[in-house]
Amino acid sequence: SSFEEAKLPDEVLQCCKSFSKPSPIQSHAWPYLLDGRDFIGIAATGSGKTLAFGIPALMHIRHSVNQKTTRRVNPLCLVLSPTRELAQQIADVLCEAGKSCGARSVCLYGGTSKGPQISALKAGVDIVIGTPGRLKDLMEMGFCRLQEVLDEADRMLDMGFEPEVRSILSQTCSVRQMVMFSATWPSSVHQLAQEFMDPNPVKV
Ligand code: AMP
Repeated sequence: SSFEEAKLPDEVLQCCKSFSKPSPIQSHAWPYLLDGRDFIGIAATGSGKTLAFGIPALMHIRHSVNQKTTRRVNPLCLVLSPTRELAQQIADVLCEAGKSCGARSVCLYGGTSKGPQISALKAGVDIVIGTPGRLKDLMEMGFCRLQEVLDEADRMLDMGFEPEVRSILSQTCSVRQMVMFSATWPSSVHQLAQEFMDPNPVKV
């Protein structure tokens, strides 16, 4: 498949300019994600999964920005990551990818002061990328989430974040699209998907 077949606006595909074609996980994921389906992607590291959910996230933001005249403060997309390193890596990709369509991202993780992260949230962001502990802390100060993306779900549960992940998910809007990417498919992740996703998520 090709980028032309994906029929996405140039400003959203700007970040793919140096690529010859969508990666397999991207060409499989995009149609379902753009259609609003809940989605489970089992994909190895380095398979292009960040843009597999990043591009549909930008489309979601673009759509909502076009509909409103005032600048929204609450984020529309939430990306949960098990580690600070992965969160930063995703944030770097999404910050860069979002530039051409004006999508604002913030990365939230622990081990550093909350002040600047709170300021960024107050200024308004479209995409929040965060680790569960810090995100839960900051959510308890009152933020709204409409769309969810879970990354490296298996590692997140392995690392003992299950209570935080459950708490975060249960506080999000019930009208949401949930997307999970995981390198493996253990029963803990399966159970989380069954509990929080639509009854028939697409699994690739
Ligand atoms: P990820 O799996 O998201 O960490 O991506 C791994 C690497 O693949 C990154 O360096 C991306 O820039 C690159 N990448 C993402 N999409 C494509 C694509 N369609 N073609 C070639 N490389 C890509």
